[in-house]
Amino acid sequence: MAGKWFEKSYRRSLVDMHIPDWDERFLSEFDSKEYVRLMKLACVDSLYIYATSCVGLANFPAKAANMHKGLNGKDIIKEITESGREQGMNVIVYYNIWSKWAYDNHPEWRVVNARGQGTADYMWDQPGRYGVCCFNSPYRDFVKEQIEELCENYAFDGLWIDMILLPQTICYCSSCRKRYYDETGCSELPRTINWENPDFVAFQRRREVWLNDFTSLLRNTVNRIKPEASVAYNVSSYSAGWQLGGNVEFFNLNDYLSGDVSGEPLTVTYTCKLFYSASPTHSVEFMTSVADSNLLEHTILKSKEYLRAKLFLTIAHNGSFGFIDAIDPAGTLNERTYRLMGELFNELKPYEAYLDADAEFCQDVGIYTNFESLIDLKENGTRAEDVKVAESPHYMASVSAAKSFIHANIPFGVINKCSLSQIDKYQVIVLPDLVVMDEREIEAFRTYVEKGGRLYASADTSLLDANGNRRSNFMLSEVLGVTFIGRTPENITYAAPTEIGRSLLPDYSQKYPMTLQSGQQLIQADGASAVLATIVLPDIDPDNVHRFSSAISSPPEIVTAYPAIVSNMYGSGRTVYAAGAIEAMEKEAQRSCFVSIVQELMDKPAWFESDAPKSVEITLFHQAKNNRFILNAVNFQKELPNIPVDHIRLRVKLEHRKPSEVSLLPNREPIPYQYDGQYVEFRLPRLETFHMVAVHYAQ
Ligand SMILES: [Zn+2]
Repeated sequence: MAGKWFEKSYRRSLVDMHIPDWDERFLSEFDSKEYVRLMKLACVDSLYIYATSCVGLANFPAKAANMHKGLNGKDIIKEITESGREQGMNVIVYYNIWSKWAYDNHPEWRVVNARGQGTADYMWDQPGRYGVCCFNSPYRDFVKEQIEELCENYAFDGLWIDMILLPQTICYCSSCRKRYYDETGCSELPRTINWENPDFVAFQRRREVWLNDFTSLLRNTVNRIKPEASVAYNVSSYSAGWQLGGNVEFFNLNDYLSGDVSGEPLTVTYTCKLFYSASPTHSVEFMTSVADSNLLEHTILKSKEYLRAKLFLTIAHNGSFGFIDAIDPAGTLNERTYRLMGELFNELKPYEAYLDADAEFCQDVGIYTNFESLIDLKENGTRAEDVKVAESPHYMASVSAAKSFIHANIPFGVINKCSLSQIDKYQVIVLPDLVVMDEREIEAFRTYVEKGGRLYASADTSLLDANGNRRSNFMLSEVLGVTFIGRTPENITYAAPTEIGRSLLPDYSQKYPMTLQSGQQLIQADGASAVLATIVLPDIDPDNVHRFSSAISSPPEIVTAYPAIVSNMYGSGRTVYAAGAIEAMEKEAQRSCFVSIVQELMDKPAWFESDAPKSVEITLFHQAKNNRFILNAVNFQKELPNIPVDHIRLRVKLEHRKPSEVSLLPNREPIPYQYDGQYVEFRLPRLETFHMVAVHYAQ
């Protein structure tokens, strides 16, 4: 896929068009010329156009006769694919799997949840609005035929399919029951969530296979008719919960990884880093709405300062930025949005010459995640009708670890199974409460440590195998130097440093140990491993609420010999295991303890060092073919506009490479520097929101 449009397009736009047609005014004022004019005004290089929206109406004369009535037969897909390309833009056709039209016209195709409801009964607390049909029903062929129609009748550069991940529930429709029966011989779908029941886990894996099977069908359909077109799906909501069915094979069915993320900057960072490592072409697209509250405000736009920070945070990850607008019911668009984005995209343009899809993202620490661990063991035994869609402890611990690394200026990435063959390039790998691991992962991390790698793992890591079997001991027990015994019944616990662990918890002691707002694993430290902290418990009885030692809190009282943090040598490498997920915790003391553990594991010079404050994130890319490093600094404060930051000190590891120039881009203004034989050191000029610095070295 080298040289594909998505490897050199950084300015994209998507206009949401979720407009029904019960009123003839709806979309009646849509004007393709105006649409393309506004894209030009916004300086967009790749535009998306809705072929269908979540209401399921087609913006083209579809054979299925589901065309939007307000368009009066006007084929806007034809108009926009043609004029967009004439204007030099890449055109990507958008298709939405959700369809209220199909839901209403074919109630027999509906997704049915465990309560027997269709999605329009409850979805997103907005009854009546969202209709989702099941791809195990004949809806599957309906979608395939519409995709064929689009591919056969229009010229475009890519197809992007939204809302294909499973619809936030196990589907109990008759088509799913039939498929399950045909494949397994079981007449009833599982009704109780249990991640330690191999039958339930096998069912979840089957749901993922069903998703991949449908996704492949659509991908193959496009590839067959339009082999040159890219195919990508909205993958970002994978993190919302296991219900959505995200998995590695699903990611691999994308030419580039893309999604709309409305959350805080940390989510952007985390998502871009994962997408970068999980995309074979390192092609990442980050989309966000211009209207505030993820489009809910419609007329209130996010501030220019906020959008600028998000744009450049994406660019700092070599990602492409897509802004999302929402059309007015009449079909008109607010020019203000496009003027605003045009100003921002014009700020971006001069930097594009310095972006390179082949650049190497310089990372010392890898946060490792897998889809199988996006579960919560507390759900075990819950009936399907009562289970909530929620982010998992593993995901929250991973994202929180990312935040600590940004604060501490530690060069890091987020990786998953796609990067398993490249883990040797990381100094330290973090396994944040990674409850499920398969044999390939266990073997990869065992070998990694044996050969000298450094590993941090916490809490439930490696207790369940990929088939839903709870192991009596950690699968990484030997590597981590610990044996599993059980778990504290208390869900508030403490960690007290031992003599050799004092540097991790300098302000804490056995009398005043550090709080963990969670239980901890009860473990035994094995052989040569060293205990850096031990568990202290409050005097409470979770089964007797009347037993407490302080009404407001649960202070530490019972000193135990159970290890809370254990360090181990294995082969040529080292590990640290924490019995509670310290990396998941928000307080400064907890972050500092986690960062100290990781910093002590890092025994080689990092790619970069900096004293940048917590609101500033630094990323570094090596462009070997240009003999340079590109360093990005993004200032993203909680309250905007940013207060500028002066004199940030930066050190970039060049090793033997001798620096020839350090300059501020895009104008290559020289920055004075020093070189100590290993690092080039300089001060960043006043940072408002974004700086890009080139560090050139002699060949
Ligand atoms: Zn179904």
